Amino acid sequence: MKYSALSLLRNALSGNRDWKPAWRDMSPRGDEYDVVIVGGGGHGLATAHYLAKVHGITNVAVIEKGYVGSGNVGRNTTIIRSNYLLPGNTPFYEWSLKLWEGLEQDINYNAMVSQRGVLNLCHSDAQRDAFARRGNAMRMCGVDAELLDQAQVRAMVPYLDFDNARFPIRGGLLQPRGGTVRHDAVAWGYARAADSRGVDICQNCEVTGIRVENGRTVGVETTKGFVRAKKVALAAAGNSSRVAAMAGLRLPIETHVLQAFVSEAVKPLIDTVITFGAGHFYISQSDKGGLVFGGDLDGYNSYAQRGSLPLVEHVMEEGMALMPMLGRLRIVRSWGGVMDMSMDGSPIIDRTPVDGLYLNAGWCYGGFKATPASGWCFAHTIARDEPHEFNAAFRLDRFATGHLIDEKGQGPTPNLH
Ligand SMILES: Cc1cc2nc3c(=O)[nH]c(=O)nc-3n(C[C@H](O)[C@H](O)[C@H](O)COP(=O)(O)OP(=O)(O)OC[C@H]3O[C@@H](n4cnc5c(N)ncnc54)[C@H](O)[C@@H]3O)c2cc1C
Repeated sequence: MKYSALSLLRNALSGNRDWKPAWRDMSPRGDEYDVVIVGGGGHGLATAHYLAKVHGITNVAVIEKGYVGSGNVGRNTTIIRSNYLLPGNTPFYEWSLKLWEGLEQDINYNAMVSQRGVLNLCHSDAQRDAFARRGNAMRMCGVDAELLDQAQVRAMVPYLDFDNARFPIRGGLLQPRGGTVRHDAVAWGYARAADSRGVDICQNCEVTGIRVENGRTVGVETTKGFVRAKKVALAAAGNSSRVAAMAGLRLPIETHVLQAFVSEAVKPLIDTVITFGAGHFYISQSDKGGLVFGGDLDGYNSYAQRGSLPLVEHVMEEGMALMPMLGRLRIVRSWGGVMDMSMDGSPIIDRTPVDGLYLNAGWCYGGFKATPASGWCFAHTIARDEPHEFNAAFRLDRFATGHLIDEKGQGPTPNLH
């Protein structure tokens, strides 16, 4: 069913009785799939969509242990951007932003892509120099970037604490094309688009094992039985290490918790995305009016999708340091997600040493913005058995060869990336 103004009108006139479910709720079939994707998050579903649309591979199942959107794709703070410094990252994230710009037409779904800008604040001369460097690197690659002085930042976001601040704001780096996207609509839209091309989306079906015969993957064991497949693609985000271990692989990944918070709804206040440079805090406002914000990882390893109270206090302190008026608001919701933190802070999209087994992981807390390009590049890697030019640097063996992509320069300390 194509969504359009006409279909809206037709259904309104017929009492909205003819809307069909957005996708079929399938169980895995008994015969062999060309590709089984483990994980029905944003990356798994985007991969299924581009496999079907770009490569014509439609004999595909996405196997999801919960429901579509129950993982990080429905838990993030919805920020998209491509303001990276390093060569391996910049083209990939810029391609992702370009795909976001055409996404709603591509999948015929309103994902509320909003290019409201992402403003990174700097609080010292050294930080401003680092921002100038990153902005110049972005512009050299054709990515939009503007270095703002304090007066320009004040004109744009006058409600921040400029006059009595503990960490005075010196300026900012603005990416006007960055912004937000409604996160669960991304999962639903990709699920619907993949389903419409024949992909089976199997919810409430957990992968419990990966069957390997003579060094080659032949399928996955699930709670609904064995599913035979020519190729198995892992896109399990925070559970990547557990799923890869089923095929005997030990990944350079640690899983950490990250929390997000939403305030009660207020009138339009923040019309961009703001990040605090003296700590780790980011904030935007949803179309419903709630302020959506988050900060650092909780700092310990866990697979539980919930966080701890010390981090709540830490995030609130950072928010108050930047924007004291936040103290007048009530928080109505918070939640946690499990992040697949890699050793250099960059992702992995690659084949694995096991034939027929492919890996998409290591998204840290920035994988939402990567969803379209990740799906695009993973689909290419699976279909052609070689990386796309945009994921050529995201190799699994870079941790052995030393070709790391350490955007933050933190070294092999996953919880600092
Ligand atoms: C609080 C928070 C804020 C964030 N903010 C941002 C942000 O602003 N911008 C940004 O770019 N990124 C952000 N992220 C990161 C981003 O959400 C993730 O990197 C990205 O969503 C991960 O990819 P995914 O959507 O495929 O993951 P998921 O949605 O987690 O998908 C993985 C799926 O695999 C399934 N799965 C796991 N094990 C199995 C199994 N054995 N069998 C079957 N299925 C299985 C899970 O149930 C899950 O649905 C944030 C994350 C969190 C938690």
